[in-house]
Amino acid sequence: MGRFSALRLLREGLTGNRGWTPHWRDAAPQPAYDIVVIGGGGHGLATAYQLAATYGQKRVALLEKGWIGGGNVGRNTTIVRANYLLPSNQGFYALSLRLWERMEQDLNYNVMMSQRGVLNLCHSDAQRDAAIRRGNTIRLSGEGAVYLDAKALKKDWPFLDYDNARFPIRGGLLQPRAGTARHDAVAWGYARAASDLGVDIIQNCEVTGFDIRGGKIFGVETTRGAIAAGKVGVAVAGNTSRLMQMAGLRMPIESHVLQAFVTEGLKPVIPGVVTFGVGHFYISQSDKGGLVFGGDLDGYNSYAQRGNLPMVEHVAAAGVSMMPMIARARLLRSWGGIMDMTMDGSPIIDRTPVEGLYLNGGWCYGGFKATPGSGLVFAHLLATDTPHEAATGFRLDRFARGHVIDETGHGPTPNLQ
Ligand SMILES: Cc1cc2nc3c(=O)[nH]c(=O)nc-3n(C[C@H](O)[C@H](O)[C@H](O)COP(=O)(O)OP(=O)(O)OC[C@H]3O[C@@H](n4cnc5c(N)ncnc54)[C@H](O)[C@@H]3O)c2cc1C
Repeated sequence: MGRFSALRLLREGLTGNRGWTPHWRDAAPQPAYDIVVIGGGGHGLATAYQLAATYGQKRVALLEKGWIGGGNVGRNTTIVRANYLLPSNQGFYALSLRLWERMEQDLNYNVMMSQRGVLNLCHSDAQRDAAIRRGNTIRLSGEGAVYLDAKALKKDWPFLDYDNARFPIRGGLLQPRAGTARHDAVAWGYARAASDLGVDIIQNCEVTGFDIRGGKIFGVETTRGAIAAGKVGVAVAGNTSRLMQMAGLRMPIESHVLQAFVTEGLKPVIPGVVTFGVGHFYISQSDKGGLVFGGDLDGYNSYAQRGNLPMVEHVAAAGVSMMPMIARARLLRSWGGIMDMTMDGSPIIDRTPVEGLYLNGGWCYGGFKATPGSGLVFAHLLATDTPHEAATGFRLDRFARGHVIDETGHGPTPNLQ
């Protein structure tokens, strides 16, 4: 496809932009591959790319039932961070954040990675203590975090409601290296780089069944015919339980809708990402000026990529409690995506009881930031049959063994994770 460079941009600009070609080959399915990855979201694409780039796999296909970027990878609120407390999560997200920092160079693609900081507000002494403890753990891992009291916060975040008697802001934990990236560019960048390395990116190809004999996988059935495969990796986010059911496997996952919202474009006002500590609300400002925000899940199981009006009101109310001036902005659009919520809020990257069938799922509403790390560790598992050292905790059998990774302490309540 040719490399992007300043010189090439200049040349194309001067010659009518006639030299650009499609970002990736529109491949037709071949009868057989060594590895088939199902799901053209961020995780499937990053996995396919890493299989070719890092593990030298030559015969890889990625199957997507719709179009690249049509799932959660193109629907999220673009927040990237590594501010976890528990060791299994922290090491993995630290790896992922380091991969984010070099993604544009690795992929030769502008994903608009912007390390503008993520701030988690605290409203009580108990929250402050918990934030400082988490911050210290993050600092010990070298990822960087700083606790700011209300006085310090007022300098860069003057628009927050510090005088709210019900939800007084005591301070906040800031991770300066966290931030945002343009979500659909991440999908396109991985698709382009993977295709360049020989991966067949096959859109409009829905997997409708598995060819499993004697407990081993031999391929997949799709709307474009049967495809034989030595190994199959599933990375279908909100459709995980549906797909795994086709392989006879019941997952510790529920699917829920999460909505997001964007306002009309405003002049720069929010310096980074900020989250409310007493309700579920998070907000940042896009490069076009729109305030991008989200909150709670809709609260019922669904496979529909759309939500309902009561949650629009609920999220808007949380936003106004945190920063009253948002009430003046006009809402432009809202949309929804399907979240694969696990029983402990942490992901699953593991082999399955079916030989040759591997699972990457259970990302809940935090999987965008995991994209590069997830691609690397899932490709490692698929290529070597051993878990990557950064993902040894994300086992499928951890729920049976009692080794859950419950970051929020909510217990087995997927709608609250
Ligand atoms: C509103 C919203 C806000 C969010 N905000 C954030 C955030 O700020 N930060 C963050 O880290 N995370 C966030 N997330 C979560 C994050 O987007 C997801 O966890 C992550 O994108 C899931 O991984 P993915 O990109 O691979 O999923 P997807 O993009 O959903 O990819 C899965 C793909 O599998 C395909 N598929 C499904 N079934 C089949 C089949 N049978 N055959 C072939 N293909 C199939 C789907 O069409 C889809 O394209 C948010 C999600 C939503 C919806």
